[in-house]
Amino acid sequence: MVGGDESLHRNKLKEALDAGYAVLDRGGSATDAVLVSIQIMEESAMFDAGRGSYLNAEGVCELDAAVMDGRTLGAGAVAGLQHVKSPIALARDVMERSPHVMLIGSGAEEFEKSLGRELVPNEYFQSAERKLQWQKAHSAGAGSSSEKPHGTVGCVALDRNGNLAAGTSTGGTNLKRFGRVGDSPIIGAGTYANNATCAVSATGVGEFFIRQVAAHDIAAQVEYRGVPLREAASYTLAKIAKAGGNGGFIAINSSGDTVMIFNTPGMFRGFRLSDGSGSVKIYSSED
Ligand code: ASP
Repeated sequence: MVGGDESLHRNKLKEALDAGYAVLDRGGSATDAVLVSIQIMEESAMFDAGRGSYLNAEGVCELDAAVMDGRTLGAGAVAGLQHVKSPIALARDVMERSPHVMLIGSGAEEFEKSLGRELVPNEYFQSAERKLQWQKAHSAGAGSSSEKPHGTVGCVALDRNGNLAAGTSTGGTNLKRFGRVGDSPIIGAGTYANNATCAVSATGVGEFFIRQVAAHDIAAQVEYRGVPLREAASYTLAKIAKAGGNGGFIAINSSGDTVMIFNTPGMFRGFRLSDGSGSVKIYSSED
C-alpha cells in the first residue's frame, strides 16, 4: 500500500479498470487490456511503479516489469531500469519484438532506444512525495522506513476469445539495495499466465514470492491437482506467510473466476466483469 489521499487512488484504479475493460469490450486482447491498465497506473505517480516508484538506497528509482500471454505462453520481462518511461511497454516489446524473455539494466535501455523511444531522466520517476519519504527514511538510517512496501501494480485479464494475460510493474521495495530485483519481473514468481490454468500477478516482499515460485505455484495446483483457483491462491499465500512474508495476489481463470487475496491490512484492488459489475477496494474490511 501507499500513503496519500485514498479517494484519488480509488479513482485512478477505476480509471485503469475502465480503460482495460474498454479494450476487452471492443474485442481487444487480454494482453492489450493488461498493458493499457498498467500504463495508466505507471503514469499516475500514485503507486510504486513507473512515476512515483520508491527510491533505492542510492536515491535512484530502479524499475522492474513483466507481462505474460496465456495463449502463446510468450513472456517478456525487464529489470533494473532507470530511464524507461513505461517498463510494462518495454516488457511487452521484449516478448513480441525480441527472441528473449528478460532484459536488464543498460541492455534493456539500449533495446528501448533501438525501438525509437527516448530515454527519460531518472528524476521523471521521483515524485516529491517519494523523495520526501526517502529523505526521512535515509536520515533515520537505511531500512528504518515506516512505509509499507506494497504499491506494485498488476493486472490480469480474460478476453472474449478465452485468452488470459498477466502483467506486473514495480519500483520494488523502498530503500532496496542498488541492483536488487524482486519477484515482479520473474516469470512464475510475481507474474504468470497460461490459458490452461490461470493468470496471476503478485505484490508483496518479493524475496518470499521468488523462493516459493508463487504465481506458478498457484497455476501448478490448478493444473496438476484440479484445485479451485481461490483455494490454490490461499494455499500459496499461507506458505508465504509461514515463511514470514506478506503480500497478495490477483488472479483469474478462463471461466472468469477472479481472486484478490492478501495477508496485509489492505491491498488496492478492483475488478470489472462482462455483466457490468465491478468494484474498487482497499481494506480487508471492505470484502
Ligand atoms: N513485489 C515487489 C518487489 O518485491 C514489491 C511490492 O509488491 O510491493 O519488488
